[in-house]
Amino acid sequence: MSLRPTIDFLLHDWLQVESLQSRERFADHSRETFDAVLDTCERIAREKYAPFNRTVDLEEPRFDGEKVILPQATHDAYKAYGESGMLSAAQDYEIGGMQLPYTVEAAANAFFAMASVSIGSGMLTSGNANLLMAHGTELQKQVFALNEFSGRFSGTMCLSEPQAGSSLSDVMTRATPDGEGFESDALGPRYRLRGNKMWISSGEHELSENIIHLVLAKIPDANGQLVPGVKGISLFIVPKKLVDTQGQLTGERNDVALAGLNHKCGWRGTTNTLLNFGEGKYPVRGGAGAVGYLVGRPGEGLKCMFHMMNEARIGVGMAATMLGMAGYYASLDYAKNRPQGRPTGAGGKDASRPQVRIIEHADIKRMLLAQKSYSEGALALALYSARLVDEQHTGQAKAADEARLLLEVLTPIVKSFPSEWCLEANSLAIQIHGGYGYTRDFPVEQYWRDNRLNMIHEGTHGIQAMDLLGRKVLMEGGQGLKLLAARMQATASRVSPEWADEARQLLDALQQVGAATQAAWKDAEPAQALANAVPYLQAFGHTVIAWIWLDVAQSAQGDAPAQVGRRAAARYFFRYELPKISAWLQVVSRRDPTCAEVPEDAF
Ligand SMILES: Cc1cc2nc3c(=O)[nH]c(=O)nc-3n(C[C@H](O)[C@H](O)[C@H](O)COP(=O)(O)OP(=O)(O)OC[C@H]3O[C@@H](n4cnc5c(N)ncnc54)[C@H](O)[C@@H]3O)c2cc1C
Repeated sequence: MSLRPTIDFLLHDWLQVESLQSRERFADHSRETFDAVLDTCERIAREKYAPFNRTVDLEEPRFDGEKVILPQATHDAYKAYGESGMLSAAQDYEIGGMQLPYTVEAAANAFFAMASVSIGSGMLTSGNANLLMAHGTELQKQVFALNEFSGRFSGTMCLSEPQAGSSLSDVMTRATPDGEGFESDALGPRYRLRGNKMWISSGEHELSENIIHLVLAKIPDANGQLVPGVKGISLFIVPKKLVDTQGQLTGERNDVALAGLNHKCGWRGTTNTLLNFGEGKYPVRGGAGAVGYLVGRPGEGLKCMFHMMNEARIGVGMAATMLGMAGYYASLDYAKNRPQGRPTGAGGKDASRPQVRIIEHADIKRMLLAQKSYSEGALALALYSARLVDEQHTGQAKAADEARLLLEVLTPIVKSFPSEWCLEANSLAIQIHGGYGYTRDFPVEQYWRDNRLNMIHEGTHGIQAMDLLGRKVLMEGGQGLKLLAARMQATASRVSPEWADEARQLLDALQQVGAATQAAWKDAEPAQALANAVPYLQAFGHTVIAWIWLDVAQSAQGDAPAQVGRRAAARYFFRYELPKISAWLQVVSRRDPTCAEVPEDAF
């Protein structure tokens, strides 16, 4: 079973990604250049990632008191990914990039996520560098971002703290000016940072020459107080090892210390760290305090971070999706080979006949179709959204603005739908394997453990739900939701006759979502409206995926087995999944208080 035909179908037959060639930025590209990138990534993923997925799970990172030790396979994969040019795929030619559309970049990265999500494909490093390209000074770009794009340095995102996860306004890391002339350092206004950052992925390792931490911290006011809320948060570059203006290491270790590694349920190929900034373990330039350089203006740290959020969340959604896909392929293979049971005929079962393979049982087919509909539906949505990112960056003004608004509304779904439902897909993959699925002798339990992270990081499920119902569907007069509704209506109006029922069902779902949105906000009372935000997110997500499947199904013509399979997955989603939204939306529309009002001591 290969992912490539699915990617090719979605990119070319459905999204017509070659049409991007008409944009000046992508004028040198063609189907051939896109194919070459996909071929390379597919090959590296097959050779350097897939064979080691279990290795990185079993040999989790360990700290020998000085260094974090990772398996050799992780070093080899890191090197191969860097050398492929994927870290700077979307960047300009003049800085060594490929000016690749984000749609193709996202599709190419899917191969790595499926082969071994936790060895990592450099998402944090390229996200970190992309942020610096958008908000850094020229020298910050040269010294830090370009060295990250080449793979010489790697990057982290240091937002969370032990006491501040979902609520970033409560970060307590302090940044104070670093002595006389702090403002005129060539690398940016220089500060000393002190605080603890929790859960930092890739926070310590020996994969790269240096680690560039992007750190959220607060600059105290004149009275030494931290400004409450997000307005007080600024963003800093804190390199593990200090560098000069040429990007060369100065030989000084910065005051950033590994306090410990977190031992995770899954995703074990990536180190996860508690980092202490500025506690004096590595005094530098005469004292304690981690040296950091301000990025952008004081107080605009979160704004800079959120600039990269759409791509980051599409990346997380894609990772969750590919884990779902990996479990689907593994369980499909198992179901085709496992003999068990006999069909029940009119006279019962005939024990003298050989057993059938479990794929012949309707219930196994149900679980396979569920996995296919979640994973391929989520993949199509992620690529559709990636195409919107390209539209936002290279389209005509009106189309670009529409893409921006659509992304605002769709991004919580791109992240949360696969986090929840491709995790459910992994559970079904275990189920298809029966007892064998519950052992470590088969890969599916690892997929589930790896995938369990995705509802937690990059905004928990609950936070995504509140973002959707509390902000995204309301913003700019509800324009994003209206644009999305118009796209769904456009799909419904162009379906071929055999999809007319599904088109009606989609329009009905859309009407239900619209009505529930209004009912939730009837009294403009946030606590009531948002009490059932997660069921709203689930219903919204299912409606979006139903629309995506209906649209995809229109391109899935003919009798080739892959096309029959796509149409079957689309029908499955409409018949077995979409009807669930009525139950989810009932509590939203009623502003059901069951959860919100249950007293704590009743538990
Ligand atoms: C493996 C891993 C890797 C990570 N990598 C990074 C990284 O590289 N950089 C980084 O900065 N962070 C990283 N994180 C941190 C991650 O983003 C946080 O774990 C996440 O934001 C949740 O914060 P928390 O763990 O403190 O949970 P909390 O914020 O305490 O949330 C606990 C629960 O309460 C719910 N909750 C919280 N507030 C509300 C509310 N207002 N209303 C309703 N429900 C609420 C949440 O939805 C959640 O279910 C990582 C985490 C993990 C586990």
